[in-house]
Amino acid sequence: MAYSRLPRPGTDYGPCLPECSHTDCQQTRRQAAQLCPRCLSPIGYEHLFMRDSSDRLMHYACACQEVEHPICRPESPQPKGLRRKRG
Ligand SMILES: [Zn+2]
Ligand SMILES: [Zn+2]
Repeated sequence: MAYSRLPRPGTDYGPCLPECSHTDCQQTRRQAAQLCPRCLSPIGYEHLFMRDSSDRLMHYACACQEVEHPICRPESPQPKGLRRKRG
């Protein structure tokens, strides 16, 4: 299952700023405004999200809290960049 990310408004691939009537832009805005069924926050821009089986959008991070979700691979852990230079 694929996941994707909505480009922010005003960027090259994002919807127009200010609001416009382009179909594509409106679709993007509508997706960004959809509430994630898990954390009940909007999907938003620049966040990874995916579609669940009933075609709702869900944050990637939230989906990964589901038990053994197929898209959640342990092989891509994000290193928490707390490396100290001093020492
Ligand atoms: Zn537009
Ligand atoms: Zn969420």
